[in-house]
Amino acid sequence: MSDTIFGKIIRREIPADIIYEDDLSLAFKDISPQAPTHILVIPKQSLPRLSAATSQDHALLGHLLMIAKRVAEQVGLSNGYRVVINNGEDGGQTVDHLHLHILGGRAMQWPPG
Ligand code: AMP
Repeated sequence: MSDTIFGKIIRREIPADIIYEDDLSLAFKDISPQAPTHILVIPKQSLPRLSAATSQDHALLGHLLMIAKRVAEQVGLSNGYRVVINNGEDGGQTVDHLHLHILGGRAMQWPPG
């Protein structure tokens, strides 16, 4: 498991507002929300970023997307939402533990900054 802030959340070493959990993943509220609803979905296993994924992570990546869909439904984002993965430095990734952002509760802009 990664020794990032998200690894600490998985191990319950620091608190988080957890929305969903299963054997493979965890979803919790972003501490600095960029939309009325801003939730992160992360794998429990250590995978630093999308570009580090291998063919062995095929099922896990599918699982994370399905959990994003399920969590969005659970929190009532029936009018739509955005799912974002920031990958690496140019992608704006700041925590080296793969995470999907679920953003909703307002109309999103395009293109992103
Ligand atoms: P990224 O910039 O894509 O790596 O996203 C990292 C996200 O983690 C940011 O949106 C942060 O606000 C969020 N974040 C950082 N620390 C915490 C924390 N302790 N609990 C919840 N979210 C966090």
